[in-house]
Amino acid sequence: MVGRKDKFCWKCHKEEKEVLSCELCPRSYHLKCVLLRERPQEAWVCPECVLVTHADDEASRSTNMRMMTLKEQRKILQNVVKMMKDVKLADNFFEHVNTTEFPDYLQFIVKPMCISTLEEMVDNREITSTQGLFAETKWIHHNCVVYNGLNAGLTGVAKALKKICRDECIKIEICPECFLHTCRHGAKGFIRVCKRPHVPVWARMTGFPFWPAKAMGMKDGGVQVFFFADHNRAVVPSSEVFLYSQDIPFPNQRNSRKQRLEDAVEEMKQHLNQLMKKEYTLKLAPCQTPYDPNRDEEHRRMMLPNYVEWVPQKRSRTNMTDTMVSYSKAVQEPAESTHTWGVLRATAYTNMFVHGTYLLGAVLPLLLNPDLTAKWCTLGSE
Ligand SMILES: [Zn+2]
Ligand SMILES: [Zn+2]
Ligand SMILES: [Zn+2]
Repeated sequence: MVGRKDKFCWKCHKEEKEVLSCELCPRSYHLKCVLLRERPQEAWVCPECVLVTHADDEASRSTNMRMMTLKEQRKILQNVVKMMKDVKLADNFFEHVNTTEFPDYLQFIVKPMCISTLEEMVDNREITSTQGLFAETKWIHHNCVVYNGLNAGLTGVAKALKKICRDECIKIEICPECFLHTCRHGAKGFIRVCKRPHVPVWARMTGFPFWPAKAMGMKDGGVQVFFFADHNRAVVPSSEVFLYSQDIPFPNQRNSRKQRLEDAVEEMKQHLNQLMKKEYTLKLAPCQTPYDPNRDEEHRRMMLPNYVEWVPQKRSRTNMTDTMVSYSKAVQEPAESTHTWGVLRATAYTNMFVHGTYLLGAVLPLLLNPDLTAKWCTLGSE
């Protein structure tokens, strides 16, 4: 076992005598809160650890994040923390709770967390993924509920911190480069071109006219888009998306948002200009050419005939300490080496090296089982 275990369930924040504790972190859960009928016989690794381990590993990291350099990845996460700092009353969470002022705090709280610590963890690359940042941010909220109660004013602020972190992390996973452009250039960043340019489209939401947008891939059976001018994200049915053409696919005569639509068309023009500045040949589609999210790459090549598929460079694993490297060499098996590296790197608990072999036994089956991993590979949990 590693250090002190939480008495409060990570999911519902309630205290109970019988909680199931993770082998790798201080988190505990009610059985029902992790959808288990009975206590596992073997060492158990919590969903949060499985998810973060998977996301932190270079081999299983999300494709979009793999497109960024390590420096860019850090910059992106630093920006999320910066946004959290701007939340109203967030200053209450800048530093750890003063235990002289609240002497009983550590009787309840096993892992104090604050925004400055998050910042340090990102700077030191202890946090290297959106999932990792979100998992650590959740400690701020969990601790606040445990110590102050679910309805306390401060808990509302902690909830807002968690929400902004989650929302921004979702945007990052859609396209970290778009996120970085906006961080660097504000609203103007929206017209910038990503390494793998997004297919320009017309997309329509119910009750709205067709609107210029960037297609961001498939989501929930529809197409995820970012709209020009408003910069909102939406998922629209693929029947409502057409490749970008000079003319609007089905013009709406009585459009109350005419001026805004003109702004969006103007912004799309600037985006197309940026594409040409990047030496892309641009070929707009014939009006009413349907966009199919399964043919995204094909559409891109059709509209940008000289586009050469951009493939992220393979990176060597960088943040292994000497102890990790030597330990990892001792335990890894060739066929499973990627998983071994990931497991070792993602757990920041030094005790792990004492129990290394045992813990690997616990977490490897989880990582090697795609069904189990997939179940937890969603940022949407809570
Ligand atoms: Zn619970
Ligand atoms: Zn855990
Ligand atoms: Zn992008």
